[in-house]
Amino acid sequence: RAKDSGRNAFRFYERGMDAAVATRNLLELDLRDALRSGGFALHYQPIFALNDGGLRGFEALLRWNHPVRGAVPPGEFIPVAEESGLIAPLGAWALNEACREAASWPGELRVAVNVSAVQFRKQGLEQAVIRALATSGLPARRLELEITESVLMQDSDAVIGCLHRLRALGVRIALDDFGTGYSSLSYLCRFPFDKIKVDRSFVRDLDSPVAAAIVRAIVGIGERLGSTITAEGVETEEQLNRLHSKGCTEVQGFLLSRPMAAEDARAFMQERTSAAA
Ligand code: C2E
Ligand code: MG
Ligand code: MG
Ligand code: MG
Repeated sequence: RAKDSGRNAFRFYERGMDAAVATRNLLELDLRDALRSGGFALHYQPIFALNDGGLRGFEALLRWNHPVRGAVPPGEFIPVAEESGLIAPLGAWALNEACREAASWPGELRVAVNVSAVQFRKQGLEQAVIRALATSGLPARRLELEITESVLMQDSDAVIGCLHRLRALGVRIALDDFGTGYSSLSYLCRFPFDKIKVDRSFVRDLDSPVAAAIVRAIVGIGERLGSTITAEGVETEEQLNRLHSKGCTEVQGFLLSRPMAAEDARAFMQERTSAAA
């Protein structure tokens, strides 16, 4: 009997796997459709300087409103796009869209675009960036690319070369989600990042002495390297104050603002800039 139920459990598991594969394949087809029919949007989350509270720019975040399933989070569809090769056209779309939008923003406000490790492996990223800047007219200094450590884990020289050429164009390079995954301080030796983004998990645990010490260490390294240190996922006043006292340069999080549709972001910066004037 035990053996029987074991076998049944296995078969059930197998069928579950089939279902997962089928769901994934459907998602891939739907992604392809959405790319063709303009089914994606970018939302923009404000980033503020801690010294004067000024708005510095926005991070562009992909949104997909699935015709049947409704909003699908990027954590779910980006991996599928990466496995299927769709990340290259999707990433190019996001770059073009973000640059086009940001070109109409006032002053020196920047836009940060997330770039997947797979986009680096596929090549063509550099051309996509150059094209997005040229067609939008956005000055390179107002574009920031957010990459994760996984980018630096793959082959090195080709990737580092590509990062240097992007930086030579004037584009800023940020290291996202720092402190998570396979994080290693040695990545900081391989490339002079303009910005290091402290992962949300450390901000959340800031009342633990260990997390606080880690944030302080990252801030210290950033000061030495001349990199901006941005804390992500700031949700409470208390976290904000702690980050300020630890010398963090910038903050981003639900406490300050959630990501917004492009037109809401435009209204948001209008209020900000007219209030400052
Ligand atoms: P990320 O680049 O680290 O983006 C920050 C994520 O944290 C966003 O989630 C944002 O909505 C969320 N967030 C911001 N403030 C808070 C907060 O105070 N509390 C909490 N709990 N969350 C906060 P989102 O939009 O779901 O994106 C998830 C991830 O998907 C991003 O993490 C990024 O890795 C990836 N992603 C999003 N857009 C793109 C894109 O255009 N290209 C690529 N390759 N990846 C993208
Ligand atoms: Mg990011
Ligand atoms: Mg992040
Ligand atoms: Mg992340």
